[in-house]
Amino acid sequence: MLLGILKETAPGETRVALLPESLKSILAQGVEVSVESNAGLAAGASDAAYEQAGASIAADRATLLAQADLVPVVSAPNPADQLRFKPGAVVIGFLRPLDAPTALAAAMARPVTLFSMELVPRISRAQSMDALSSMATVAGYKAVISAADRLPRLFPMLMTAAGTVPPARVFVIGAGVAGLQAIATARRLGAVVEAYDVRAAAGEQVRSLGAKFLDVDLGGISAEGGGGYAAELTEEALDRGRDLITRTAAHCDVIITTAQVPGRPAPRLIRRAAVEAMRPGSVLVDLAAAAGGNCELTIPGTTQVVGGVTLLAPLNLPAEVPVDASNLYARNILNFLALVVKKGELTLDLADEVLAGACVAHNGSPVNPRVANLLQSSHSSA
Ligand code: NAD
Repeated sequence: MLLGILKETAPGETRVALLPESLKSILAQGVEVSVESNAGLAAGASDAAYEQAGASIAADRATLLAQADLVPVVSAPNPADQLRFKPGAVVIGFLRPLDAPTALAAAMARPVTLFSMELVPRISRAQSMDALSSMATVAGYKAVISAADRLPRLFPMLMTAAGTVPPARVFVIGAGVAGLQAIATARRLGAVVEAYDVRAAAGEQVRSLGAKFLDVDLGGISAEGGGGYAAELTEEALDRGRDLITRTAAHCDVIITTAQVPGRPAPRLIRRAAVEAMRPGSVLVDLAAAAGGNCELTIPGTTQVVGGVTLLAPLNLPAEVPVDASNLYARNILNFLALVVKKGELTLDLADEVLAGACVAHNGSPVNPRVANLLQSSHSSA
């Protein structure tokens, strides 16, 4: 059996699905590994390092796609590449089946099996495969570092002979995986941190990191969706959060906003008035930009300065930390692969809860009903 490691082609992507140091267990099972030349270069892994680890370098991308039985990726290969997948191949990665299903249509019609890392169920057994959490952790950290780099102030309180420098004030909106990491990072840099999340359960975690949790009375509306996620709120409930955010923004130097509701556009929580209330020089990082953004001024992927406030709307922060992001992702991928490769052989038990949850398509038809519906409605509206 051949496992193929591709060079990612999305603009700005620097991560790679498996690093040389990730190959040991897979090679020990007798699986051959072939790597597209320069696949790991941006993540610090040369072709020579892959060869040293026991992999070979493929003649070219088309040959590798035509021969590989297992194709772990970061993002879905483009439609032309999808037509080259070997019949029977298993493809695993961030395939975006819910937000960009048509970009996967070519692969879904092929006799292959597609697994999406976004759809891995968030159950205890699958925690080691939770690539969304791994990447959110990296993004939460990097968002704070990017903000600190732009802020014309210091983060920690400093007491010097020339006087005292007050600490930076950071406001984190959405205390999920990325938000909690942002809080921890800002605290380590010495900032005073406040945080808001619509899920009351997040309060304890926020306080345990040394930050203040800001509560909003939602008037009895439940904000808990399934699996620890937030539910989509009514406009009235969202407005209560928006008012709190506008009030808090006025005394903050940095806002890191991460609020998301799975499968929905990001909630618009930060009004123009909140940005206008921030002091000139302040920084806002909208980590929900890829889902449209939490701030009504956000232009995804674009940095703007509005009234002296810098608005960052990065679409792929993990790609700015390619070594550790690839390392964590590779471990998630390897743990997933352990479910489909047993003693060097491909064994697809689609009744397994994790595989069933993550499977997008198998042998030419969509398996996930949400993906099938989305494709159906895109055909009928075309
Ligand atoms: P996410 O990226 O979907 O959302 C980020 C945060 O935004 C969440 O905390 C959410 O409550 C918050 N949010 C949504 N709408 C909001 C609004 N209107 N106002 C303020 N905040 C809002 O979520 P995530 O970070 O991937 O995960 C959220 C939670 O899921 C975690 O904190 C955890 O409890 C749970 N989780 C469970 C597992 C597991 O394996 N069981 C793994 C990861 C996360």
